[in-house]
Formats: sequence, C-alpha cells, structure tokens
Amino acid sequence: MFLMIGVNDKEEQLDYEGVMTCDVCGAYGRYEVFLVCSVLYLFFIPTFRFNYRYYVRTSCCNTLYELDSGIGEAIAKGERVRITEEDLHLLNRGRTYKKCIYCGYATGEDFEYCPKCGNKF
Ligand SMILES: [Zn+2]
Ligand SMILES: [Zn+2]
Repeated sequence: MFLMIGVNDKEEQLDYEGVMTCDVCGAYGRYEVFLVCSVLYLFFIPTFRFNYRYYVRTSCCNTLYELDSGIGEAIAKGERVRITEEDLHLLNRGRTYKKCIYCGYATGEDFEYCPKCGNKF
C-alpha cells in the first residue's frame, strides 16, 4: 500500500461590500476579495488546508493587490471591516495610465504614439 498525497490551490470569493475610488485608474469601483489556500489531499480527500493568502481585485481595472492577512481573516469570518490603502500591497496594476511627456495627454489605452501630438510615449 502507498500513500497518495496531492496539493491543490483553492480560490474562494469572500463577501465584501463597499465602493472605493480606485488609486490606479481613478474610477469608482468595488474591491473583490479572494481567499486562496493550499489544500492537501490524501487519497483524493481534502484533509488539510494551509498557506492562506488573501487578495483583492478591483472591479474597475482588474488591479491585483495582496491583502493584509488580519483583514482578510476578519472578512472571511464575516466581520464588517473596511479595507484601507495600508492593508493593500500592489501586485499587478490593471489598466495603467500613460502620460505623454511632450503634451501631458494621459490615456488608459496602450497607445504607442500620443494621439494628441503624435510623439512616441
Ligand atoms: Zn481601477
Ligand atoms: Zn502628446
């Protein structure tokens, strides 16, 4: 007889209500809070969960943050907490603003040349 062990990551969306103004794109959006944990399977039965991580994704531009685990745990327990900027660590910017160094034109699109003055970004 041999032991069958496997590890899989599991993602779960948590309930979090509250609107915010996005730091990255400046639009109104919502934070979508996710819990990711690793699950140890023993003979295909989930037996042990570990390595809990919490992430936040913005609904406006899909920017991804890592969330402070204390706040993440509170949300997972259903406590009413507010996510503040200090709880978030930027992982991946969503739509980024490009700004033309010649005329100051800012855009969320991935232009190679400035649509206003024609210079290269
Ligand atoms: Zn945004
Ligand atoms: Zn320009």
